Amino acid sequence: MSEPRILILGGGFGGLFTALELTGTGDVTLVSDDDHFLFTPMLYEYLSGEVEEWHIAPKYSELLDERVRFVQDEVVSIDLEAHAVSLANDSLKYDVLVIALGGITNYAGIEGAGQFTLPFRKINHADNLRKRMVEALDQIPPDMPPQDVRRKLTFAVVGAGASGCELSTKMADLLRDAFKRRALHGEPRVVVVEMGDKVVPGMGEPIREFVEKALGESRVEVHTLTRVVSVTNDGLIFDFEHQGTREQLKAAAVVWTGGVKMSPLLDRLDVEKNQRGLLIIKPTLQLSSHENVFALGDIAVYPDAAPTLAGTAQLAFQEAGLAASNVKALLSGKELRTKHFEELGEAMSLGTERAAVLTAGKAFGGALARQARFALYTSRLPTWHHRLRVGASWFFEGTTPRPLLPLGMQR
Ligand SMILES: Cc1cc2nc3c(=O)[nH]c(=O)nc-3n(C[C@H](O)[C@H](O)[C@H](O)COP(=O)(O)OP(=O)(O)OC[C@H]3O[C@@H](n4cnc5c(N)ncnc54)[C@H](O)[C@@H]3O)c2cc1C
Repeated sequence: MSEPRILILGGGFGGLFTALELTGTGDVTLVSDDDHFLFTPMLYEYLSGEVEEWHIAPKYSELLDERVRFVQDEVVSIDLEAHAVSLANDSLKYDVLVIALGGITNYAGIEGAGQFTLPFRKINHADNLRKRMVEALDQIPPDMPPQDVRRKLTFAVVGAGASGCELSTKMADLLRDAFKRRALHGEPRVVVVEMGDKVVPGMGEPIREFVEKALGESRVEVHTLTRVVSVTNDGLIFDFEHQGTREQLKAAAVVWTGGVKMSPLLDRLDVEKNQRGLLIIKPTLQLSSHENVFALGDIAVYPDAAPTLAGTAQLAFQEAGLAASNVKALLSGKELRTKHFEELGEAMSLGTERAAVLTAGKAFGGALARQARFALYTSRLPTWHHRLRVGASWFFEGTTPRPLLPLGMQR
């Protein structure tokens, strides 16, 4: 008898960790559009050069053994009735399907946002931003007056969630370091625009205190209650809601960390969803209409998880263990399990020198938190082999940022 075909769509936290746990069970295929996994919580450290690409974006060929087939391709449609998935270059049939396709940047219909802002979700997004920062710095002669320098080296970040705060402090520290190295007059300007009334809205007070302090120390300018109206090729226009005024800000780059939405592919799936288009799943991770289809990670609403876990790697990572064990149970006719998921703690990188960590309800910050974050994330990387290699590299070779040197001097 042929082995059951288990097809996993999406090689992120949900899909990759499910595939790793299912290695050796049936005929497992993982489909993803990139050739590498991405440990997104450290994309900020990749921007600053504190970590290297191979640390946080290992290739699937290094993580999976020959018992899992990896197909690099784009999923274009899913036919739940025919048990078939169409890829851009192929089509695949399955007996059990695991959907873990994650989210995409949500520009919320803001004019010009998709065209003129830089997204920050992938390795090449971080490369593009770093290049833009270097190019902007390279245009500044050392004798330019401080007010002109500040105007030319203004960067805007849209959204003051965890991502916007981590990114803006990192950018500000990197730019400030570049100012010293290049002996430029004045200082750079990093502006964060947030429509809510506070930074990191989904997080508790203990960690917010550290975030606010870090934003201040990195001299990031935060505008809350401020709504972006449109983005142009040289900046953005926003409304100060509390003042009822509208302003234009010229910027060398605008980075969009303003939200996530579901892959358009899910719109076409005729299954139960919530108002945000997320798949409603059973506590076993199965779709209620199709018991051979599991969904997890950012695309699904898990009924029994701490609310702060929605849309996090922590949740997708924990669900992957349950998905794998329930796929095995389904195939062997055993009872499927359910699980309650709790928050494992929070760790944010705040500039190049410090971080903030929340664990067991207690928050701590500074350089020690930065070390703790590296240690914690070493243990969360996929596979023992990769963890050991990366841990050794961070321990012996260090995690010093890579300065924004002029283009010709970059290594
Ligand atoms: C910059 C950044 C920092 C973050 N930091 C944190 C953090 O510190 N802590 C935390 O808990 N969470 C963090 N998150 C959120 C976290 O990354 C997500 O919640 C998590 O990745 C969700 O896992 P997932 O498996 O659902 O989706 P993903 O990890 O997004 O995986 C989806 C995969 O599917 C692939 N894919 C998508 N569409 C297709 C298609 N049509 N065809 C083929 N392949 C496709 C994608 O390329 C990707 O590999 C961060 C996210 C970002 C962008």
